[in-house]
Amino acid sequence: MHPSLHVSVAVDLARVRVNVEHVAGTCGVPVIAVVKADAYGLGADRVAPAIADLVEGFYVFSLAEAASAGLWERTGKPVISLSPADSDDAGDYLAAHVRPAVWCADRAALLRRARPVLSVETGMQRFACPPEQINAALMAGEIDEAFTHAVTAAQVRRLVELVGDRKLKLHAAGTALLDLPEARLDAVRPGLAMYQGAVTVLTPLVEVRMGKGPAGYTGFDVVRHGVILAGYSNGLRPGPCLINGRRQRVLEVGMQSAFVEVSFQDRVGDDVVLLGGSITESEVAAAWETTPQQVLVTLTAMGSRRYLD
Ligand SMILES: *Cc1c(COP(=O)(O)O)cnc(C)c1O
Repeated sequence: MHPSLHVSVAVDLARVRVNVEHVAGTCGVPVIAVVKADAYGLGADRVAPAIADLVEGFYVFSLAEAASAGLWERTGKPVISLSPADSDDAGDYLAAHVRPAVWCADRAALLRRARPVLSVETGMQRFACPPEQINAALMAGEIDEAFTHAVTAAQVRRLVELVGDRKLKLHAAGTALLDLPEARLDAVRPGLAMYQGAVTVLTPLVEVRMGKGPAGYTGFDVVRHGVILAGYSNGLRPGPCLINGRRQRVLEVGMQSAFVEVSFQDRVGDDVVLLGGSITESEVAAAWETTPQQVLVTLTAMGSRRYLD
């Protein structure tokens, strides 16, 4: 996907802070902030320092993400990384102040000096240690912390069954399980919950016309429509939008432009809000038949990013 020159992405870091405060307050345990994929497109180098005092540490996918966001330099907080394809040298992790997730005894031993964290298999069936190898991995890596990538309460219970009696620090809950007290364990690990409502994506109307019968590729027929300069090559799909405070729809998406329904008061130059205000990540996700996470990374990449202060 290419960004559109005509789309602007505004990130409200104060809202991210409020979200993190809310998670910490309701869960009552430390927060490990998931800032992988450049903080879901909000910019990990800006998000991490903005919330560093509220969180215990950070979680990324790769060592490279931790380095490029300067997580240690900017926050002084520990980082966990997941990718199995980064480095076989504990020194690389130590230099970046990153603790690698491991799921077998060999790698736990190899990376022991970097204080690895055990990823436990509870159903995701990737990047995780099967039950019969847990003992060996814990010993080989002298491990004091374990987690699982859980999406159900049963998976959290499985983690506790498998390693709950080992005096390990345990965490499991991402956004989907934050409301479940028994999933909170010793820390929570949210991504989406920190970012929801913090991004506004908008683009101006460049044409506005009265409809004259079926229009566009699909023959949509509305009283009045406008055109914006973002299309499927920029990741856009049909869905809700907001124009001058009124709810409208992105009707049809072309390669680099899209048709939107407009009202009589809407003019060329008026902003079409694709995300933000009453348009939530979840609402767009339902229209796009995908996840709110995918909506965030798609829409934050659609234009040039700026930060509100
Ligand atoms: C991405 C990720 C999370 C955060 O997921 P959200 O649903 O966005 O909160 C938590 N844990 C792991 C292991 C992840 O990879």
